[in-house]
Amino acid sequence: MKTIIMSVLLCTVVLNTFFTLALAKTPIGIVIHGGAGTISRDTMTAAQEQAYHAMLTHAVSQGYSVLERGGSSVDAVTAAVTILEDSPLFNAGKGAVYTFDERHELDASIMDGESRNAGAVAAVTNVKNPILLARAIMEKSVHVMLAGKGAEQFAKEQQLELVDNSYFNTEFRYEALKRAKQALVPQPHQAAVPYDPAWKMGTVGAVAIDKKGNLAAATSTGGMTAKRYGRIGDAPVIGAGNFADNSSCAVSATGHGEFFIRYQVASDICARVKYQKIPAAVAAKQVLAELKQVGGDGGVIVVDNKGQLSWVFNTEGMYRALKTEGGEVQSEIFATKS
Ligand code: ASP
Repeated sequence: MKTIIMSVLLCTVVLNTFFTLALAKTPIGIVIHGGAGTISRDTMTAAQEQAYHAMLTHAVSQGYSVLERGGSSVDAVTAAVTILEDSPLFNAGKGAVYTFDERHELDASIMDGESRNAGAVAAVTNVKNPILLARAIMEKSVHVMLAGKGAEQFAKEQQLELVDNSYFNTEFRYEALKRAKQALVPQPHQAAVPYDPAWKMGTVGAVAIDKKGNLAAATSTGGMTAKRYGRIGDAPVIGAGNFADNSSCAVSATGHGEFFIRYQVASDICARVKYQKIPAAVAAKQVLAELKQVGGDGGVIVVDNKGQLSWVFNTEGMYRALKTEGGEVQSEIFATKS
């Protein structure tokens, strides 16, 4: 009799533990962005709006399906960002902006929140998908960040697809460069550079949480129109434009990179979550509001380690989409729900 009672008790404990763990399981989810800036209905045709929604929906759905199949958050953010890089609509990969010298120099980074491994690439000119190079740097090199010619040599060794720099040419971005050059005046200090988000903004990114509860973030960009002297933005700077840590959150940013670097936007959000124990969405809102106070325009997407997804921006709009477990794809562009 005693044995039967003991067995029943043991079974109850085991079942309780099982259900508690099952219920505690964090939901999978992914958020992506395609840049923030002066994005308003007045400056966009219905056809353009539809094209953006279609591409955002496609990218977020592909990323989500990786998670649904049990894939890692690193695989999910890589899949989503690669799709956005291949689209001319966004300032990353194919749609990268022009430098002052009428070329393209691309930056990207990726971070794995479980191991806190990271890979970053700066100022590459011939790598079709810089996010794949960032990932190769994370997984197949002993370094975190590679730049320029060395990074391109590593890309070749890793047999990543290389293209001529002209692959990144687009009419629309060239027009933006011409406008930017007209507006540029020499400034001695980066914080004082006149900033027109209408022609400077853009970047793509993704953050995700997988079935194991692991977080990841990926960010890729052509940088800022008319950038000079090998300028590198926040996108490849871990902690500035990209960050992931399972103990808090994962963030991908877009905006005026000089501010995001100096204010360490991505890691500041996660540090507030970790040490102040505030929700990630609240932390992101605080940081973006503080950034606005000092003149920094942009936005972030965030996922925390409970699977809460959020986006915050201090500009007129931000191309963005998310998919939660069991929810429909939500794709938005303007500040108020479209
Ligand atoms: N953050 C990018 C950079 O400064 C640009 C952007 O996101 O708009 O390079």
